[in-house]
Amino acid sequence: MTVVHDITSLTFFRGRVALYAILKGLGIGAGDEVATQAFTCVAVPEGIMATGAQPLWVDIEAEGYNMDAADLRRKLTPRTRAVIIQHTYGIPADLDSLLQVAGEAGLPVIEDCCHTLASTYRGRTVGSFGIASFYSFEWGKPIVAGIGGSAVVNDPELRERVHEAYENYHAPGIKRLARIQLQYYAFGLLYRPRLYWPVRTLFHRLGSLGMAESNYNPVGEGNIAEDFNLRMALPLQRRLADNLAKLDAQTRHSHWAANEYRTRIQSKAVTHPTPPKNSDTVFARYPLRARNKAELLVAARKANVELSEWYATPVHPLEGQDLRLVYYEPGSCPNAEVRCGEIVALPTHPAVSRRDIDRAVNFLNKVAP
Ligand SMILES: *Cc1c(COP(=O)(O)O)cnc(C)c1O
Repeated sequence: MTVVHDITSLTFFRGRVALYAILKGLGIGAGDEVATQAFTCVAVPEGIMATGAQPLWVDIEAEGYNMDAADLRRKLTPRTRAVIIQHTYGIPADLDSLLQVAGEAGLPVIEDCCHTLASTYRGRTVGSFGIASFYSFEWGKPIVAGIGGSAVVNDPELRERVHEAYENYHAPGIKRLARIQLQYYAFGLLYRPRLYWPVRTLFHRLGSLGMAESNYNPVGEGNIAEDFNLRMALPLQRRLADNLAKLDAQTRHSHWAANEYRTRIQSKAVTHPTPPKNSDTVFARYPLRARNKAELLVAARKANVELSEWYATPVHPLEGQDLRLVYYEPGSCPNAEVRCGEIVALPTHPAVSRRDIDRAVNFLNKVAP
């Protein structure tokens, strides 16, 4: 049985709102910096910037997907007040080194567990190493509730402060809830690896027409201040609790899928991930570094094989000058930028069948031998 922390007692509208609540609880705000890794999505800097603080961008490991401890040590400044450690794709970060650097600098660590509820490091579930951790339950995450997030606070004093502030958060309006519910059911009906490409196109169109709750509301657009006052609606909280009961089955499915990919994909055009020793990775997706990402994505779309591209930019999906909106200086995290140009990821979620895996494996071994 997987050990899961109390995920359901501090739920928020989204993962980024949970992060915001944790940072506020730590007293972080204007004039402060929060260290976080490039090769992430815009949700993270949004949560940081909603407090008035700024993200401090740290590069990832030369061969991996998670924060590089040496670069963290190099980049810290006297204004840095906390470190966010992300377990990308569910691969545990190098916690030994990162906790040491943060500890020496006297900085609290917050774990970004949006990609994993069940991965372990030295036998302990991730999310239990820092002062707090946060989760997301939108589409594409291990547990889906529609849209939502939660905070787990390991430090008793901080937990009390976050709970106190939580009294001022309220549920989203009925219209918003209805839209999220519709989306949840539509995805449940439509979502199969074989339908990945057409559904993705449809969702992007609806999002740009303002008809869907998009994963990425652009920084500064929409009523962000309002979102950062919201909890998760009750029906979504109930669904979260129901879906959490399936976590063990889901973990087994993810292990099976990742093992199939690892042992059967022999294409020389892709490189498999190497999770840290002493860890058990429950992959949210199975990442591969491709020699020619763009070509592979085009071929996958044609062959109708689910292959996702995230993260395509160091702060997905911001590009070019837009990266400066979140204080990311292009060129400042070279490993992350290289990784964005390489990465493709295969699905591991419960809707992935043996046939889907056969098709993905055959596609990769044939198209890119
Ligand atoms: C999804 C995600 C989040 C939070 O997303 P929300 O849309 O705010 O729930 C944060 N960090 C990472 C790495 C994520 O993948």
